[in-house]
Amino acid sequence: MKDYKEITDFVHQLYGTPDFVPLSVPRFVGNEKKYLEDCIDSTFVSSVGAYVDRFEKDIAQYTGATRAVVCVNGTNALHMAMMLVGVERGDEVLTQSLTFIATCNAIAYIGAYPVFIDVDLQTLGLSPDAMKAWLEKNAEVKDGACYNRRTGRRVKACVPMHTFGHPVRIEEISALCEEWHIELVEDAAESIGSRYKGRHTGTFGKVGALSFNGNKTITTGGGGMILFQDEELGARAKHLTTQAKVPHRWEFRHDAIGYNYRMPNINAALGCAQLENLDKMIQSKREVATAYERFFAGRSGITFFHEAKDCYSNYWLNAVLLPSREERDAFLTYTNDHGVMTRPVWELMTDLPMFENFEKDGQEHSRWLADRIVNLPSSARV
Ligand SMILES: *Cc1c(COP(=O)(O)O)cnc(C)c1O
Repeated sequence: MKDYKEITDFVHQLYGTPDFVPLSVPRFVGNEKKYLEDCIDSTFVSSVGAYVDRFEKDIAQYTGATRAVVCVNGTNALHMAMMLVGVERGDEVLTQSLTFIATCNAIAYIGAYPVFIDVDLQTLGLSPDAMKAWLEKNAEVKDGACYNRRTGRRVKACVPMHTFGHPVRIEEISALCEEWHIELVEDAAESIGSRYKGRHTGTFGKVGALSFNGNKTITTGGGGMILFQDEELGARAKHLTTQAKVPHRWEFRHDAIGYNYRMPNINAALGCAQLENLDKMIQSKREVATAYERFFAGRSGITFFHEAKDCYSNYWLNAVLLPSREERDAFLTYTNDHGVMTRPVWELMTDLPMFENFEKDGQEHSRWLADRIVNLPSSARV
């Protein structure tokens, strides 16, 4: 327990407080109040307004996406992404079991089936090696589409997730998707500002999804964004997320089953202000990561998770690896009892009642990591 006291002391010192230190909280140090006041003064607080358009343009520019379309949250950004790449009821979608539930829920909303591929120990995200092995063993391409030979179902898409902001080996995954005729959707909900070989996560796939939930690197209260390389697909997303209404001065005509997934102007206003300080937040989060890394480098038993080769991480949540599940639980108990919020990683999707019966590979790395990962307080110090 002595070692654990050293750690809680260090976290309290890092955040300059003897009080409870949370895992990840938002910071409002810029134009947030000004833009919110502007919304209220103008009465444009709801589904139309200038901040919505501005936030989409600003995010497209920041990420390098051709087009960005706002959503009410990251989960429905992913739901929309599935629909836009053509995932249909009965299809299979490759993803990882070491992820937040939203990734798999989005697949399930369509009536599609997740197939769980193992992750890399170096990235914590979907492994192109495991994906290749699964495809070679189980899949075939027929008439320009990929099929699972055993189930006969079409394998329509692949959704890797950039865990805690750490980019996956996205180029290799992208190449496999192309070779096997599978659409690539990136769950970049945790990785705004993270880059692979200098290119922003969420812009490698046909579609990418970001989240602006309150615990993410920047927040709009609740919100999400869909990123596109294809302008036309982005326009389709805009149409579908706004009830598929045909533009007209007064007529109410809708030409598809649409969704009310549009982010209100008041949330977008918050997002515009948050985005102005994103680089500052990431710089601060990377400083926090460096401080943790130095601290744990001098101590045996607990390993700090460092960004992989070719990756620039936003370090949304810092992670350490404990030697075993038992020690992980002891560490969680001590730290949470002593004013430092820590959390284990999500339970594997393959262990949840909704997803336990779906197809999966050996999951060795996912299981090993799930027993050992602990997230540490990671808020920006701005
Ligand atoms: C946060 C998150 C989402 C989306 O969450 P919302 O709360 O709906 O914005 C999706 N996937 C992952 C991996 C996430 O961490």
